[in-house]
Amino acid sequence: METLLLDTNEISRAAEIIKNGGLVAMPTETVYGLAADALNGRAVAKIFEAKGRPMDNPLIVHIADISQIYPLVREFPEKARLLAEKFWPGPLTIILPKSDIIPVEVSAGLDTVAVRFPSHPAAQELIRLSSPLAAPSANLSGSPSPTDVRHVMDDMNGRIDAVIDGGECSVGVESTVITLASDPPRLLRPGGVTLEQLREVIGEVVLDSAVMNPLADGQKASSPGMKYKHYSPKANVVLIKGTEEDFLSFVNMRNDGKTAVLCYEEDKDKLSLPYICAGRENDYDEQARSLFSSLREADERGFETVYAHCPDTEGVGLAVYNRLIRAAGFEVIELG
Ligand code: AMP
Ligand code: MG
Repeated sequence: METLLLDTNEISRAAEIIKNGGLVAMPTETVYGLAADALNGRAVAKIFEAKGRPMDNPLIVHIADISQIYPLVREFPEKARLLAEKFWPGPLTIILPKSDIIPVEVSAGLDTVAVRFPSHPAAQELIRLSSPLAAPSANLSGSPSPTDVRHVMDDMNGRIDAVIDGGECSVGVESTVITLASDPPRLLRPGGVTLEQLREVIGEVVLDSAVMNPLADGQKASSPGMKYKHYSPKANVVLIKGTEEDFLSFVNMRNDGKTAVLCYEEDKDKLSLPYICAGRENDYDEQARSLFSSLREADERGFETVYAHCPDTEGVGLAVYNRLIRAAGFEVIELG
């Protein structure tokens, strides 16, 4: 199949493709999504095929008006209303008990549905012109999520009907996922909306242990995406815990032509091996925005190993940590 590359004034063409049961990659503020009509199970099934995604990993349904959530869920509790008022449109996904119109392909057999109202104008227009859209990230399953149209084409050219070019994504990591189907609410995946911000609005929110840790054998994933090694480039990513000084001397001993460092802007001049810049040390938003394209750059430049200093876990830093530790397959070296 030939993949059409559309720009943002051709969204009506993309909407026709969706209405005919096809697949369109769309820009959102988090990462590019691979969208199908959320109420058409056969169309949604094609997403799993195009990505090579396990069928037991459910999808997020994207809406373009708060009222579109009501037919999708069995209940819309007060906490959901507070979160939607504060953070929608934006990078927050809310899980609620699902209604009967949600196809089994979307919920992967769970009795819940994940819903998000993205802020990106191209995504909103596509939804308005077609329907609520089921969309995971528009990458091959397991690889780093696409934050630019070029990444989508690298993974999906020939596998999907069209891509809308909306430039670079402003958040750069996938949405924060919170479930309100359990009490107290649980954070399943950190993202651009922080745990601290969620607690300010609805009080107690539990951090699911799978955000920071690998699942123990036999432990059940509350969000099926947590089971899989994820976001990984071909290069082997290794996280290093320790002081900045120990980190720099550790990596500077490993200049073998095949190894690179994911480093902060401030440390570039202290390195004697190739580096990929991860943004400024205290700017978590910038680190999130550049993370996935840095991981893809490591492969483009042919590195076999990438060392990264373990990030702090406050604010959006928690999202960066969560993605990096999965990219590393939980391989961590503790110095000192
Ligand atoms: P992605 O496929 O990269 O867009 O990520 C979607 C994430 O949302 C995955 O981690 C899914 O497991 C999670 N998710 C979607 N729907 C549900 C649900 N009903 N319950 C729990 N997690 C969900
Ligand atoms: Mg994904």
